[in-house]
Amino acid sequence: MAAKRDYYEVLGVSKTATQDEIKSAYRKLAKKYHPDNKETGDAEKFKEASEAFSVLGDEQKRKTYDQFGQAAFDQNAGGANPFRGSGFEGFNFGNGDFGDLNDILNSMFGGFGFGGSRSSSRRTSSRGPIRGDDTLMRVRISFMQAVEGTKITLPLSYEETCSHCHGTGAKNGEAYSTCPDCNGRGVIITQQRTIFGMMQSESSCPRCHGTGKIIREVCPDCNGKGYNKVKKDVDINIPKGINNGQKIRVAGKGERGINGGENGDLYVEIVVQNHPQFVRDGNDIHLTVPIDFVDACLGTKIVVPTVYGDCELDVPSGTQPNAVLRLKGKGVKDVRQEKYGDEFIHMDIKTPTKLNKEQKELLLRFKAASGSSESLFDKFKKAFKK
Ligand SMILES: [Zn+2]
Ligand SMILES: [Zn+2]
Repeated sequence: MAAKRDYYEVLGVSKTATQDEIKSAYRKLAKKYHPDNKETGDAEKFKEASEAFSVLGDEQKRKTYDQFGQAAFDQNAGGANPFRGSGFEGFNFGNGDFGDLNDILNSMFGGFGFGGSRSSSRRTSSRGPIRGDDTLMRVRISFMQAVEGTKITLPLSYEETCSHCHGTGAKNGEAYSTCPDCNGRGVIITQQRTIFGMMQSESSCPRCHGTGKIIREVCPDCNGKGYNKVKKDVDINIPKGINNGQKIRVAGKGERGINGGENGDLYVEIVVQNHPQFVRDGNDIHLTVPIDFVDACLGTKIVVPTVYGDCELDVPSGTQPNAVLRLKGKGVKDVRQEKYGDEFIHMDIKTPTKLNKEQKELLLRFKAASGSSESLFDKFKKAFKK
C-alpha cells in the first residue's frame, strides 16, 4: 500500500487553515469525487478526502495528527478501526457503498453536526445496553523511550454516557415512556407483497427514531442525547521494554456505549522508532562496531555503548571477522518480568585499504615470520583436488 498523502495536501489547505476553510474544501472535493457523480466521480479520491476530513475536521483529532502524524490514525493497523467514533462508520466505505452524497453533506454540515447520525443503525437491532466498540490509536515513541519506559499525554476526545440520565436522554433517567408505535422495540416491521411472496422488512421506528422511548422531559445535562462529549488529556504510562506493535489498553476511552452500555476501550498501539546504531531483536540488542585487524589479532579492550551507558569489553586475541561478543544482561528489560536481554556486539574487522612503506615492510616480515610457504588459499585449493 502506497504511503498516505498528507491530509492537508489531500484537501488542498494550509496547515493553518480554519475549520470553515477545511469544511469548504472538503465539501467541494466530496461533490466532485462522490461516485454518484458520473463525470468526475472517483471512489478512491472520495475516500481519501473523506478520511482527511474526518481527522482535520475535528479539532482534537487534528491536534493529534499535527503532533503524531499519520501513525496515530493508521488504518492498516490490525483489528479495530481508528476512525470508529469519528462519524464515518455509518458510511460503510468498506462495502463499496458510499452513501447518498446529500445525506453525507447534510449529516456533516446540517443541524446535528458531524457524527450526529452515528449508530442509529445499531439502535434498530436492540435497545438494551450495548457496550461501545474498542478503538485504536497509534503513537510513535523513540527507541530509548521504549527501553526506559515513559509517560505520554494524549489529548483524547470521547463520549461518555450521561451520568444524570444513565443514557436515556430523559430527565433523571425517568421522564420517558414506551413508544406506542413500536411498543418500545425501536423497530417497525412492514410487510410487502412481491413476486417472491410476502416480504418482511424491519426499519427504524420513525416516531422514536429507534430508541423505543418517547421522552417527556429532556435531560438538562446532555440535552436529551444521553451522552456527553469529554475532552481530556490522559496520561499513559508506557512500561520499560515495550516493543513495536504492542498495545496498551486505556479502559473506557473507546467508543461510547449505546442505551447506557459502557464505553469500549481505547488501545494505544506503540510504534517504536529505529535507533541509528542499536538494533533490537526481542529483548536483545545488536550493535556493530569497527575493529582494526591488528587489534583483532592481538586482542584489545574497548568501551562499547549500551543502552545503560558505556561498558568495557574484552576483544580476545584472534577474533575473527563476523565474530559476535556478548554483554550479558545489557539488553532490554522484558516488559512483563524482571528479566533482561543481552547486547550482542558484532565485530566488523577492518583491513587497511592503503599501506605506507613501513607498514608494507612490516606485513611482509609478518608473512615471512609465519613460516609456511603455503597460503591458506593454497591449502583450500589442494583440499578441492582430492
Ligand atoms: Zn443526560
Ligand atoms: Zn418507536
